[in-house]
Amino acid sequence: MARFLVTGGAGYVGSHVVLALRERGDDVVVLDDLRQGHRQAVAAGAELVVADVGDRKNLTEIFANWKFDGVLHFAALSLVGESMREPLRYMAENLSNTLWLAEAAVKAGCDRFVLSSTAALFGLPEIIPIEEDAGFAPVSAYGESKLMAERGLEWADRVHGLRSACLRYFNAAGADPQGRLGEDHTPETHLIPLAIDAALGIRPPLTVFGTDYDTPDGTAIRDYVHVTDLADAHLRALDVLKQGRSVRYNVGNGNGYSVLDVIRMVGEVSGRPVPYAEGPRRAGDPAVLVAANARLRRDTGWSPRYGSLEQVVRTAWTWRQKHPHGFDGVAATMSATPVAES
Ligand code: UDP
Repeated sequence: MARFLVTGGAGYVGSHVVLALRERGDDVVVLDDLRQGHRQAVAAGAELVVADVGDRKNLTEIFANWKFDGVLHFAALSLVGESMREPLRYMAENLSNTLWLAEAAVKAGCDRFVLSSTAALFGLPEIIPIEEDAGFAPVSAYGESKLMAERGLEWADRVHGLRSACLRYFNAAGADPQGRLGEDHTPETHLIPLAIDAALGIRPPLTVFGTDYDTPDGTAIRDYVHVTDLADAHLRALDVLKQGRSVRYNVGNGNGYSVLDVIRMVGEVSGRPVPYAEGPRRAGDPAVLVAANARLRRDTGWSPRYGSLEQVVRTAWTWRQKHPHGFDGVAATMSATPVAES
């Protein structure tokens, strides 16, 4: 049995990874300030430390309290649009938090580190599907911040022997197939939850960002990878790091779907048409982002278990129907009941 520190383990991808680690019997300490994450999303049996990952005193204390076999770093600023309004904060926070965390790991003698990275490293790629060593040319400060973090980890490997896996997520989507976890962001900016909420009538009609892309139906194409498959990639990456070398993987299914494909699938799965309007392109959105995943498959044996768009949308739909107000909404209703009765 191993023990892992998971920053951002109360967030969307982090919480699915914590669940997967607990299911295979690992000990987990979650470090999350709950600004974005949800206490209810932390799997049973995991320790939750509510604190800021950017505060080095917290890191010192945590590494003094526990001995870790690896660190998984999810806690980060992650909104592309916001990063273009506050580029310096994005780059400063995402880079420095990664570097100080890596340093704390090195000092504690922990030699495995997994970083949530992003397809945004690649900017506007010319060749699809995107290989790991396609050129890096981020078109957002968010993408730049993760590229800098990846490079910092290269130095940590070279000088200190800290082995890192940087996983470049394509579009993380869907929810735990057993319905225990789902996607609950504030603000929500992602296509699938917004389309589902539009179908449910709990948010306004969706706006399709751009219908004049050079794609078959004119809307942008993305690679929607199921969050449970993404979580599985993290566990496998941790195992590969035991071989004593750092790795970089693009994590996606290798299939692209357009915005209109997603709208149609949400309509089919939910039995309700998604109300939508056509709008202009969103700044910085490339036409097509699809992962080449051969390296991940070859090195780790990973393959998607929930690889169809239908499975992605169905799991997301099932969770949202049961949690129309997200995690906190459910808790608020439950805790409000006794008060109302008294
Ligand atoms: N999108 C859209 N309307 C929305 C949100 C997203 O048309 O309200 C599009 C977006 O332009 C992109 C795709 O859906 O082409 C996926 O966007 P999302 O924000 O989910 O993920 P991203 O690709 O930005 O990581």
